[in-house]
Amino acid sequence: MSLTRAPLRRTEFLPFAPPVIGEEEIQEVVDTLRSDWITTGPKTQRFETEFAAYLEAPGALALNSCTAGLHTALATLGVGPGDEVITTPLTFTASVNVIEHVGARPVLVDVEPDTLNIDPAAVLTAVTPRTRVILPVHYGGHPVDLDAIHDVARGVSATVIEDAAHALPARYKGRWIGSGQNPVSFSFYATKNMTTAEGGMLTGAPDFLERARVLSLHGMSRDAWKRYGKGGTWRYDVLAPGFKYNMTDIQAALGLCQLRKLAAFQERRREVVRAYADAFAADEALELPVERADVEHAWHLYVLRLVPGALRITRDRFIDELTARNIGTSVHFIPIHMHPYYRNKYGYTPDRFPVTLANFDRMLSLPLSAKLSDQDVADVIEAVLDVTRIYRR
Ligand SMILES: *Cc1c(COP(=O)(O)O)cnc(C)c1O
Repeated sequence: MSLTRAPLRRTEFLPFAPPVIGEEEIQEVVDTLRSDWITTGPKTQRFETEFAAYLEAPGALALNSCTAGLHTALATLGVGPGDEVITTPLTFTASVNVIEHVGARPVLVDVEPDTLNIDPAAVLTAVTPRTRVILPVHYGGHPVDLDAIHDVARGVSATVIEDAAHALPARYKGRWIGSGQNPVSFSFYATKNMTTAEGGMLTGAPDFLERARVLSLHGMSRDAWKRYGKGGTWRYDVLAPGFKYNMTDIQAALGLCQLRKLAAFQERRREVVRAYADAFAADEALELPVERADVEHAWHLYVLRLVPGALRITRDRFIDELTARNIGTSVHFIPIHMHPYYRNKYGYTPDRFPVTLANFDRMLSLPLSAKLSDQDVADVIEAVLDVTRIYRR
């Protein structure tokens, strides 16, 4: 395939979501390495406290990933074989894999055309007496309609577990995502709004988190810090066959620094989003991401959608054209029901979720990170507008 020869402004490839790591993070990690405590300990505990305070959450449990948080939440609730968990097909596979891990049945329902979040009306039609959990994902960082989801959940006594991997920090009707009593799982993966390289945080009610904490560390009644610290005891009881999901103090060292910078990161993300919106609003080939009036978007992703019929090229070719101009992109996500494991196990056809399918075929995520310079942003805009100009129908 021959790509158009663009006047190549960028000589260096622009990665899609580079992390922002400063001297503070490096110093804090070195400080941990020079101390006698490198795994779960004082810094992890401080990170939990500061994270919970930031989001006005009732409590927080630091783990080694968001996936671990979702899995632990399901296991803590005792969700298992015979139970159903309703979630979205437009998510990262981790959201659904964890449902399989506990032996429950994932029930996928389609998304809303504007936010691409799970559609509460579709959730309502999918509930059965076996529905134990509704697991919405705040897609791209735009909060789901939580009031509508909680209404449906209450009707069948189901618990809402939020996948908030993209939603740090975000608000729904003035309240922080993660400030409620139900379990909410955040991600500090390398590409997320703040990072600990790998890591996650589960928020929720203190008594729930207490049980989750036990399950997240082998099911032991006392964690290592308390056993090996002064005044600790060698005794512990195994209360359940738990997991090895604890966060290390090396990760927490990164997290403490990143949390202090989060507000500044978000300000920069919003500047980038405003620049994209200003540049793309008038282009009839492009559909821009929305932010509803009652939310504060976390802007984890900037998902551009190509207007059907407006261009002579496919989304895949559009991505190739941007790559040729040294602009990194991604697609969020290959829908769950199109992956071989789920397709084969549940007999899905691609058009089973028509809104998801129609949007998957025309979406791409542009670079979005607090690390982007004004020049980076200008280069992305120039490249996108160059491609739409050349291939307009
Ligand atoms: C990144 C991501 C996860 C997994 O996060 P980890 O911390 O890598 O486990 C889960 N759900 C969604 C929607 C994600 O984007």
